[in-house]
Amino acid sequence: MSPSRIGVLALQGDTREHLAALRDAGADPVPVRRRDELDTVDALVIPGGESTTMSHLLRDLDLLEPLRTRLTDGFPAYGACAGMILLASEILDAGAGGREALPLGGIDMTVRRNAFGRQVDSFEGDIAFGGFDEPVHAVFIRAPWVERCGPEVQVLARAADHVVAVRQGPVLATAFHPEMTRDRRIHRLFVDIVNGRA
Ligand code: GLN
Repeated sequence: MSPSRIGVLALQGDTREHLAALRDAGADPVPVRRRDELDTVDALVIPGGESTTMSHLLRDLDLLEPLRTRLTDGFPAYGACAGMILLASEILDAGAGGREALPLGGIDMTVRRNAFGRQVDSFEGDIAFGGFDEPVHAVFIRAPWVERCGPEVQVLARAADHVVAVRQGPVLATAFHPEMTRDRRIHRLFVDIVNGRA
């Protein structure tokens, strides 16, 4: 069996950093901008950025519905920050006026956009992460938090009493940005999920 191909959504945000982090984690990732590129990958990373802008780019590029369908069919995905927002089944404070963030589903959860942002725009800290022996240094930038988790959702990390990392089957999401540090454990976890090893 050939190794799984992991794509990184390359519409906006930290695409390059996620490509590099996945390479460090042993994968051979490719950028995804178009429908035919999405069709060739077995898994997708959705970087941080601005979830409202990304939603509209996804829709305009005819990627929104194909992604929703693939996620329903068990497509592995990892979303960081704005990526977490998009992977939710429900988004609070999604924006308005035709510029709102659009949920892709993938994880049965309700996410509040810019939740920490109303308190502190950005912050970092060491947090415990399920399955890791040592804490993760988490960088939050206008980050969301998870307000409701469905029964199938595994909570992996919390910060200031809020859920900030979750997994449901092959879909992983963090409210923070591991690509901005040199720690590759979260990307390695995703590569292991994609390859059926975690
Ligand atoms: N606040 C952004 C949004 O709503 C997310 C910020 C980020 O990805 N760093 O999409």
